[in-house]
Amino acid sequence: MGQGSVSDRARDSDKATTEVLISGGGMVGLTLGIALAGAGVAVVVLEPTDPAMATDAAFDGRSSAIARGTQRLMAALGIWPGMAAAAAPILDIRVSDGRIGSAASRLFLHYGRDELAEATDEPLGYIVENRVVRAALHARASALPGLRLITPARLAKAERGAGAAPAEAVLGDGRCLRAGLVVAAEGRGSPLRAAAGIPVTTWDYPQSGIVCTVAHEAPHHGVAHEHFLPAGPFALLPMTDGPMTNTGGGTHRSSLVWTERRALVPAMLALDDEAFGAELQRRFGDSLGALRPAGRRWSYPLSLMHAERYVAHRLALVGDAAHVIHPIAGQGLNLGLRDVAALAETVVEARRLGLDPGDAAVLARYQQWRRFDNTVLMIATDGLNRLFSNDSAPLRLARDVGLAAVNRLPPLKRFFMRHAMGLVGDLPRLIRGQAL
Ligand SMILES: Cc1cc2nc3c(=O)[nH]c(=O)nc-3n(C[C@H](O)[C@H](O)[C@H](O)COP(=O)(O)OP(=O)(O)OC[C@H]3O[C@@H](n4cnc5c(N)ncnc54)[C@H](O)[C@@H]3O)c2cc1C
Repeated sequence: MGQGSVSDRARDSDKATTEVLISGGGMVGLTLGIALAGAGVAVVVLEPTDPAMATDAAFDGRSSAIARGTQRLMAALGIWPGMAAAAAPILDIRVSDGRIGSAASRLFLHYGRDELAEATDEPLGYIVENRVVRAALHARASALPGLRLITPARLAKAERGAGAAPAEAVLGDGRCLRAGLVVAAEGRGSPLRAAAGIPVTTWDYPQSGIVCTVAHEAPHHGVAHEHFLPAGPFALLPMTDGPMTNTGGGTHRSSLVWTERRALVPAMLALDDEAFGAELQRRFGDSLGALRPAGRRWSYPLSLMHAERYVAHRLALVGDAAHVIHPIAGQGLNLGLRDVAALAETVVEARRLGLDPGDAAVLARYQQWRRFDNTVLMIATDGLNRLFSNDSAPLRLARDVGLAAVNRLPPLKRFFMRHAMGLVGDLPRLIRGQAL
């Protein structure tokens, strides 16, 4: 591929033709490009952000919880080797209810690998920095000759017409491309979705997510902590150790996702490191020793969005272009990558039968496959956030009893665990770790 040479090749022809055109080369769009190109489908990906910028530490401060099913997809697509060394395994998950300045509720929920039905050495999932995921995706994409990444570039317009004629896309610089299927992987504000007139259900949460890396004295032993506070969940997720310190070992690090009332966030971001560390300590306690922020802090306003349809004539929506959920369970990217696995499988199977990738039946199958799973996770994460983000005494008691009850019921616990690991439902081949 090679970004420069791609642009040159695309310029060669006035109306180049491709089987699938993906608008948006973020984590979801680029993974879809890799899946399709790896199965022999001709793909063009358009991305406005230069890859060097998208993989820079200053671009995105988030880490992602990668569910086990997602890790299998990454491995099946040859992406995982590029990120495995920087992926911290999640060995245990501890969920507790608390208040600022007081110890976490003792009625906590604990998830460990030993509680799964099947014996396994595999972790429950992994935590990986988004910039590491992006770098691994770009490295894999550049090894696939069938994938053409055109960047920086975006669509000026796409005429999807009607009937058997392919879609015709015009790029911002006037180049034209014909494609059997156009995929919107442009994130929440997808212009293609808007141009197709697909309505969305959406609301803003009165919360923002404060995100940064936190250095701590004690090792995390692979434990992911989710501590529910009145303003929202406060999560510390295990990362690989940082650079060596003068005491010998590497700095112990976790990734913070702190959901806070939106109005309070600017003041928290403006604190100096010492005062910010003290706020973290008040909320988390001292089980990991002294906490201090390491590097820059980010904040992300939180919202929910669901597109009424995922498909239109020669158009499919994937990832955040189709659905945005609360990060309470770290599932947004995982859902987007399950969309990728389902759409890639549907398109590749159709192609083997001689069908066009934009065929209406192919797209209807994709939509039917993904809407239920996405809707369930959306309702569950929204409900969890509403149940836990408040300080009502009866609700506190009810949820503490609920957590304790789930903790004592192994089958129910296993059910929740397998959902969070992305291993429930009609799983696409890639999520099972199989080639397309
Ligand atoms: C605080 C926080 C924590 C999170 N933690 C987790 C987690 O632990 N696990 C998890 O699974 N999910 C998590 N998520 C959700 C996850 O980050 C998103 O679901 C995921 O990034 C969506 O990827 P995407 O590629 O669909 O969209 P985006 O990341 O929004 O990417 C869209 C891409 O399209 C490009 N683009 C934009 N406009 C255009 C255009 N007009 N033409 C072409 N390209 C365009 C953009 O440059 C970008 O590259 C979290 C979210 C938040 C806010």
